[in-house]
Amino acid sequence: MPPDTTESEGTIFMGERTVRGSMPGDAGGPLGGGDRSFSGIRTLFRLPHPPDLESARGADFAAVGLPFDTGTSYRPGARFGPAAIREISSLVRPYNTVLDVSIADHLEGVDLGDAPVVSGNTPASLERMTISVAAVTEMGILPVGLGGDHTVTLAMLRAVAAQHGPVALLQFDSHPDTWDTLYGESYNHGTPFRRAIDEGLIRPERSVQLGLRGSMLNRDVLDYSRDAGFTMVPAEELLGRPAAEIAALVSQTVRDSPVYVTFDIDFLDPAFAPGTGTPEIGGPTTAQALAYLRALDFAGVVGMDCVEVLPAFDVSGITALAAATVIGEMLGLVVLGRRAGG
Ligand code: MN
Ligand code: MN
Repeated sequence: MPPDTTESEGTIFMGERTVRGSMPGDAGGPLGGGDRSFSGIRTLFRLPHPPDLESARGADFAAVGLPFDTGTSYRPGARFGPAAIREISSLVRPYNTVLDVSIADHLEGVDLGDAPVVSGNTPASLERMTISVAAVTEMGILPVGLGGDHTVTLAMLRAVAAQHGPVALLQFDSHPDTWDTLYGESYNHGTPFRRAIDEGLIRPERSVQLGLRGSMLNRDVLDYSRDAGFTMVPAEELLGRPAAEIAALVSQTVRDSPVYVTFDIDFLDPAFAPGTGTPEIGGPTTAQALAYLRALDFAGVVGMDCVEVLPAFDVSGITALAAATVIGEMLGLVVLGRRAGG
């Protein structure tokens, strides 16, 4: 006989009679907070997970997990990044004290779950991720990608560019990811933005790469990026310039183009984000990263992601926490951008 749980207290399921008052939606609503932010099934910010795509219609943004790490060149495991970001994201609350905006008051968000990737098969995964994200962009919903290694951003860009045309890329990353091939492969986390240029998805002359650093095999990839037209700000230069100055540089470069923002968590110094596949020392702190973000104008942003979170190497979950916080911050900036842009 199964135990009768309807009369007990503090169990997982308390029965129809008492369950309503303890559901996360009643306690604090989605987008974190409430007095039970530690309970409930983990979606991004505890947002609703619609039963089908059609139910997402009308939402302002949709989280899509991209649990793919076949494109990794060093430490694998970023396929578990989306789950780790969702897990800790229940701690991110809706009111952003610095931006003075409550995301939940202005944006309706959903978490659509994960795109059906095929581990080990990069072309099939890219195709499935592209189809999944395109379903979101076709409904006019801002896609928020949770990675996954940086290969996944190529799928995001394919979907976003199909809707908006070639976009400006704002890339937070310690690596340019513009290699032609890496280990002889054309599609992996070292090549997405080279492929994005080849496929006409991004406008390099309107694009900015922030935080580049670390040792490389040679300087060819940097020469390529510069020749292609990217505005590149290496970490040592970035850290010497105030956030407002960097924001002005980004605005001048991006101008009126729609913008895609990709945040590779290895933009952060590994002291602040150890859980990532290809860490590079000499990067910004989380506080500095937030300051650079907060100075930016997000009015033209049509898609975003946070990638390269690798939970197996993540001490105390700080990398996933940084990722979830960055996503919350970016959504706050979307609210401010829409308010300013009308
Ligand atoms: Mn990257
Ligand atoms: Mn990187």
